[in-house]
Amino acid sequence: MCGGRVAVVGGSVAGCAAALALHRGGTDEVVVLERAPGRPAERGVGLAVHDDRYDELESAGYLDARMPWIQLERRRWYVRDTRGPAVGRRIGEMPFPFRTYNWGPLWHELRARVPDAVEFRTGTTVGALQHGPDAVELHTTDREGRRRREPFDLAVGADGYRSLIRTEVCSEVCAEPVAALRPEFAGYLAWRGAFPASRMTASDQRLWDVEECAYVVFPGGHVIIYRIPDSAGGHRVNWVLYTAPPPDLDLSLETPVSLPPGTLTDALHTHLARIAAELLPPYWGALVALTEPGELFVQPLYDFTAPRYATGRLLLTGDAATVARPHTGAGAVKALQDATALESALRSASDWAEALHTYDSERIAVGRATVELGRRPGHALVETTPERGSMNPSALDVWWQRAAVGGGLGGRALHA
Ligand SMILES: Cc1cc2nc3c(=O)[nH]c(=O)nc-3n(C[C@H](O)[C@H](O)[C@H](O)COP(=O)(O)OP(=O)(O)OC[C@H]3O[C@@H](n4cnc5c(N)ncnc54)[C@H](O)[C@@H]3O)c2cc1C
Repeated sequence: MCGGRVAVVGGSVAGCAAALALHRGGTDEVVVLERAPGRPAERGVGLAVHDDRYDELESAGYLDARMPWIQLERRRWYVRDTRGPAVGRRIGEMPFPFRTYNWGPLWHELRARVPDAVEFRTGTTVGALQHGPDAVELHTTDREGRRRREPFDLAVGADGYRSLIRTEVCSEVCAEPVAALRPEFAGYLAWRGAFPASRMTASDQRLWDVEECAYVVFPGGHVIIYRIPDSAGGHRVNWVLYTAPPPDLDLSLETPVSLPPGTLTDALHTHLARIAAELLPPYWGALVALTEPGELFVQPLYDFTAPRYATGRLLLTGDAATVARPHTGAGAVKALQDATALESALRSASDWAEALHTYDSERIAVGRATVELGRRPGHALVETTPERGSMNPSALDVWWQRAAVGGGLGGRALHA
């Protein structure tokens, strides 16, 4: 055990889990520094966790059955068929053992499990840092504009896909200019939306089981649709549509960005409306169209994994360490797995150098594998979509096994 005083930069999923890991791993003092004042602005959309990954994370103590979820059993694939039913022609069905979560309630449950002994400082931005072989100093600004410089034994970067801590790690360990180590735009966007399931009519609800995840494919993309819990015991319809941006998009995508609800341009709204009306089967197009503008946002997708997960007295976790395309449903899972790896590295090490070395060597390979797991289905499902109008279930199975993820859906096993 290393003891010491540790800062966690970022208090989202990875930050809460890292704070828990540090506390359990014997750290004397843990301080979480989160830029958002109060609670983070929830977007109300969902994420999915494979049953096997859930079992591992439950055993490790990072997920539990009190966190509200919905159980999915199967995935049905649909394609538009102008002479067929409104849901489209079903071209295949596969098992889909996933639990779905609503990001907001999941974050609240994780936050509630961060012990009171951890200081959780919201409205605090880390603007700069200095670090040496034995210590790190963080420069912070609080919501009143007061500036501080604070020493720590270790800074954990849980500061997401535009991580400041990652930039320091990269400049420390890489000969290349840091600009060359930025996340790379994957070439397409994810439109995301969620709305109360009560907005669907009763007959619409009957056409689509709660246990079913729909994969609706079209030339140049697809949309995944499943239900997630809301915070009041009901359900929300959650969807993610992947396709290339409209050609006239006036937006630089070189540096990672995200377009929160209410900020989408007319060009993005029009592009989505055209896909929903012309490329999706009418039932699913109408479902997507039930989403109101304030429930809709866009995430450009990026590929990146840091060359090191730890160096000196800096350590990376979650999206700060690896940004991968979300096709495999493994982003939040990887953030939680990073925390379990950190906890066990801390428990077994006798000093910081040993703990960071153990964590770094275990997680670098996982980061690389996660990016690769995201690229393969992205290629098959968005970048080079085959003609699927005539596919039957066995042809779909062969295509999916060969072209996409094989065994990687839901992320890697914790100790693969
Ligand atoms: C508000 C919010 C809502 C989200 N909603 C969803 C969702 O509905 N569904 C989904 O699948 N994923 C969602 N995500 C993304 C999801 O949480 C992540 O992809 C994944 O869980 C890994 O998270 P992370 O903690 O590594 O990164 P993030 O969730 O991006 O968290 C990074 C955190 O670091 C903080 N931060 C960044 N820079 C600094 C700094 N310099 N100083 C202090 N704090 C800093 C940010 O405010 C943020 O809270 C959301 C993220 C956020 C921030």
